[in-house]
Amino acid sequence: MRWSNVCLPKDFGGLGILNTRTLNEALILKWVWKLYNSDEEDLCCSLLRNKYLRNKPFACSKKKGGSQFWRGVQQVKNKFFLGASFQVGNRENIRFWVDTWLGEVALKLIYPKLFTCCRYTDITVSECWIGGEWVIDFRRTFGPAEVEEWDQLLSQLEGVHLSESPDKAIWRLEAKGVYSSRSMYRFISFGGVLDKRVGKLWRSKLPMKLKVFVWQAMHNRLPTGVVLKGRNWKGDINCPLCGSPETIDHILFQCIIARFVWACIKEALGWEKTPLCLEEVFRDWLPLGGAHHNLKFFPLRLLGGGFGYQGIK
Ligand SMILES: [Zn+2]
Repeated sequence: MRWSNVCLPKDFGGLGILNTRTLNEALILKWVWKLYNSDEEDLCCSLLRNKYLRNKPFACSKKKGGSQFWRGVQQVKNKFFLGASFQVGNRENIRFWVDTWLGEVALKLIYPKLFTCCRYTDITVSECWIGGEWVIDFRRTFGPAEVEEWDQLLSQLEGVHLSESPDKAIWRLEAKGVYSSRSMYRFISFGGVLDKRVGKLWRSKLPMKLKVFVWQAMHNRLPTGVVLKGRNWKGDINCPLCGSPETIDHILFQCIIARFVWACIKEALGWEKTPLCLEEVFRDWLPLGGAHHNLKFFPLRLLGGGFGYQGIK
């Protein structure tokens, strides 16, 4: 498998090997959290603020220049905003359109037509709140669609509670709202597929070599003829015993020898049926979704003669 896939957390389909590059990003992003949320007493943050920000919002700080550490922060800072929302205070650190501070998503996503014709995309909330009212600069006059969005925006802005305490970041990936490198690491690693079966497989009481075998089978990574062919293998992809294409299902369930072994087990244990393919095993046989998956490898309802886990072990 690709190293990047092996490094994914186990419930994302990998082996849970730590990706140090991703972890480093998650740890660097903790500094972004600190820059938003720590007070003046935190000397490191005060130093960074005075050296690099000088009362400008962090999100608008320059990407180039500064120490190696600061350049590192700048490289990954955009990932922070994927998980952060903001509690509006003195409004100086929150970008009006881009940051999530009113509702669940950024205003540029709720009001896309207004955003496309606004003059300053990075404008802060405090720069829009002038003399006790909302003043936002646009590049052209509104059509009917923009007017509709504008009315909605104004009614949404009416509910905003403004105060003079500093803005605060809230971390939405943790229930407590406080940044954790673990949640960021998982968020960056997430490839879009969450397989709960795999998590249960790793927590089950199977011997480790069986877990690894099932994990490889699940991801179609066992070195069968068909899989090896995909990696430019020059050999024969067919089963040497019967001549059918050699897949995982063929070796484990459909080949003549496999069918014989399954028939013996069925006979010996008095089962009503045996699995016919890997998908069926995961769906009906391995109780990866059941409450007792830690105790029994096969569900008891399929064991006709009252054999428990001990009988199969
Ligand atoms: Zn065969």
